[in-house]
Amino acid sequence: MKSGKKNREKSTHAFAEASRILPGGVNSPVRAFAGVDTEPIFIASASGSKICDIDGNEYIDYVSSWGPMILGHAHPKVVRAVTEAAGRGTSFGAPTMAETALAQKVVSALGSIEKVRMLNSGTEAVMTAIRLARAFTERDYIIKMVGCYHGHGDSLLVAAGSGLAEISRPSSKGVPQPLAELTIAIPYNDADAAKAAFAKYKGRVAAVLVEPVGANMGVVPPVDGYLQSLRRLCDENGAMLIFDEVITGFRVALGGAQELYGINADLTCLGKVVGGGLPAAMVAGQAKIMDMLAPLGPVYQAGTLSGNPLATAAANATLEILAGDDCYAKLDTSGETLQAGLEDAASSAGIALTINRVGSIMSCFFTDKPVKNFADVQRTDVKTFKKFFAGMLQGGVYLAPSAYEAMFVSLAHSKEDIEKTVKVAHNVFSDIR
Ligand SMILES: *Cc1c(COP(=O)(O)O)cnc(C)c1O
Repeated sequence: MKSGKKNREKSTHAFAEASRILPGGVNSPVRAFAGVDTEPIFIASASGSKICDIDGNEYIDYVSSWGPMILGHAHPKVVRAVTEAAGRGTSFGAPTMAETALAQKVVSALGSIEKVRMLNSGTEAVMTAIRLARAFTERDYIIKMVGCYHGHGDSLLVAAGSGLAEISRPSSKGVPQPLAELTIAIPYNDADAAKAAFAKYKGRVAAVLVEPVGANMGVVPPVDGYLQSLRRLCDENGAMLIFDEVITGFRVALGGAQELYGINADLTCLGKVVGGGLPAAMVAGQAKIMDMLAPLGPVYQAGTLSGNPLATAAANATLEILAGDDCYAKLDTSGETLQAGLEDAASSAGIALTINRVGSIMSCFFTDKPVKNFADVQRTDVKTFKKFFAGMLQGGVYLAPSAYEAMFVSLAHSKEDIEKTVKVAHNVFSDIR
């Protein structure tokens, strides 16, 4: 990839200008490309599997807006639904029938869900799930897994203490220590650690909060029996099991990880795909828990733009398509083909690569060892990832600008897209070697 260097002059200029008035030049930190030692590309437009920057470069997009764009960009049916909704008014702050229709789709897709509250972001969904779990159990402690991300709510921005189930510390300035202390951070995929935490905080744990497939430390699937163990521990200890399915919901199966692994959560957080590319998210679960929300119950939660007509239109259109025939089989086949191609490219270049994949989400870890938790992820070769990222971008493939993120394959990725991606990877790997 030495020749034909992509011109990114306009992006460089745009980033400088943005950096004068937006902290870090962006509105969400990972977009700044700090994890790959380069400057971000500014986006002009996207369609299907392709995204275009303001310098006119086109890339095959595996970021997919960090997950939502499962149909690809600007899907005609979604665009039409949003456009029509916009013509009828963009926000009312009053109930609409489209919200009920959307809730019905979610209830019928996930067996554990009887009622749904719509909100605007995954962060809000998790904040509300925790508040509900605390209210329902009348307890304060939350168990979370190191490496799982649950948005930027105060209680979840914590780092593990030094020992097993020891007191957590805030991982962000501005989070009070007393709040961090109510969150117990333990390793992912470690049922014994969860058991120990329940023993240590007996009768005080409101909920276990987990990404059923870890997807914010790169993709780290649950080991056999892990989710079952969490389910059992919660039942034995009267705690709620909260699945943060903001990535996995409507992504790994129509019924999310709960369908894929055959486990019911007490509360489910949905976002990303469920918003169809617009800002929408949900907290959902059994009626007896959900009915604790205001106006029925004593748990306060509200949102001016919740159930927004544009977001609801995009979501309804997206979920209708996903409920159609063999979407998930198609996504899995695309994922499988891409994985096999990348593995082959790496091995023929003699590069150690472990790919973790669940359906259409996967991660390339530069290591010859299995990756089962955040400590394993941290032992992978980030320097090689940075070269891989830079080479792929140069070759017209847009990956998440961080070694700790997932690749998202969409229904718009064609066989040709995947073949081209693999071909670029072949070249990049032989250059790296
Ligand atoms: C993205 C994400 C969130 C936060 O969602 P936002 O809409 O960015 O607030 C929460 N949990 C998981 C698992 C996520 O991937």
